[in-house]
Amino acid sequence: MENPERLARPEVQALTPYQSARRIVAAAGGRGDVWLNANESAESDDYALRNGRLNRYPDAQPAEVIARYAAYSGVSPESILATRGGDEGIDLLIRTFCTGGRDAVLQFPPTYGMYSVSAETANVRVVNLTTSPENGWTPDVKALEAALEKDPAIQVVFACSPNNPTGNLLSPEVVSGLINATRGRAILVLDEAYIEFSPDDTAVDRLERAPHLVIIRTLSKAFALAGIRCGFLIGSPAVIGMIRKVIAPYPIPAPVADIAEQALSDEGIARMKTRVLATLRRREELARALRALPGVLEVSPSASNFLLVRFAESARVFTGLWDRGIILRDQSRQPTLAGAIRITVGTDEENALLLAALTELLGEY
Ligand SMILES: *Cc1c(COP(=O)(O)O)cnc(C)c1O
Repeated sequence: MENPERLARPEVQALTPYQSARRIVAAAGGRGDVWLNANESAESDDYALRNGRLNRYPDAQPAEVIARYAAYSGVSPESILATRGGDEGIDLLIRTFCTGGRDAVLQFPPTYGMYSVSAETANVRVVNLTTSPENGWTPDVKALEAALEKDPAIQVVFACSPNNPTGNLLSPEVVSGLINATRGRAILVLDEAYIEFSPDDTAVDRLERAPHLVIIRTLSKAFALAGIRCGFLIGSPAVIGMIRKVIAPYPIPAPVADIAEQALSDEGIARMKTRVLATLRRREELARALRALPGVLEVSPSASNFLLVRFAESARVFTGLWDRGIILRDQSRQPTLAGAIRITVGTDEENALLLAALTELLGEY
């Protein structure tokens, strides 16, 4: 048949796919020696499979992984669903709670790109309540209440804390405001992909009194396991039970469960915490050095493993570093982020290479 792509759903034909860090660099033929663009961990542990016999289907939900994540996060196992990364969690929430062609999700840009990509893929409308740097990118709870009142199609509200790419946390007051505004009205999703870098700020303790709240977690960031694609949804057993109906029968491959189980052992969690402390130290050193450079207008406070930096000439900085094999994430086209580049905290060596290249580039500034 000629042009079989014409058979794709219209919204898929029109879709701009998520521009993953890897995809952008591959498309542009970038070489890249220093990868500070995807908020991955700069360091890795070294894992080996403990069970190499793979002839059987895995558990639908790997019991020991769930038990360990439940203990780690302080909830009961019925409140947890293991997913193929946090990204599958986002997709499942939309597919479980939104009807394509009718419903909508709400988000607070600038924020993580997958909420809108997953929604658009499902022909679900996206309502944007853009936040402002003047109040530290804090969602406007009053505006959310008004939007929910005006637009009955909104089924899911996505908020991210710490937020990617701005790095800011939601205050307990704002979290309360979001929970109250959505109660009995919509699912509230708090994306805590980076919460290990600010562990006291988790909203997990809110779940008991907020059955419409769902928290997204991942092993991709602080646990240094972006390569295995493993994440979690935490929510009330009622909500998790609904999503369980939608998830594929065997979403977690046995080798992934094997490694996730090791990462969630006492030793694995201790290693993660040590790595987080080192990352926080390096983040503060990098922020201080960046603030001292000419042409750096602002380094936003961060509660995560990355920094959002506003440059006087961000395009020149971005391509200048790119040409030197240092790959960052350009954020300048996101609302309110003109001139902004997101920089993942690297190893001491990577951060030194970045600063040396920047000093060279901005010296010419
Ligand atoms: C990285 C990230 C995720 C999920 O990543 P996975 O690798 O799919 O687990 C979710 N939300 C935000 C904000 C992220 O930055």
